[in-house]
Amino acid sequence: MSKISDRFRNSDKGKNLPKPVRPWDLLKTSEPRATDDVASDRLSICRSCPELLPLTGQCKKCGCVMNLKVKLAKAYCPLHKWAPTHDWE
Ligand code: SF4
Repeated sequence: MSKISDRFRNSDKGKNLPKPVRPWDLLKTSEPRATDDVASDRLSICRSCPELLPLTGQCKKCGCVMNLKVKLAKAYCPLHKWAPTHDWE
C-alpha cells in the first residue's frame, strides 16, 4: 500500500479499516469477493475519478489495477470514495 494509504489507515478516519488488500489477494480462495453489483458500482466511481490512469486502469494513489481490486470485498479507495463492503459472496 502506498504511503498515502498508510497515512490514511493510521489516521482517526481510517483507523477502523481492515488490513489493506491487493489485487493478487484474488488468488486466495479465502479472501471474500464483493458481489458483482458492488464491484460494478466501485468501478464506475473509479472510471469517473481523475486518479485513474485510463490506459492501464491503474489508480495513481494505490497503484492497483482497479478492475481487479474492486472485486475484493475488503478493498477500499485510498481517497475514501468507496469503502470495504460486507456484501460479499
Ligand atoms: S481507488 Fe479511489 S482514488 Fe483510486 S481511482 Fe478509484 S476512486 Fe480514484
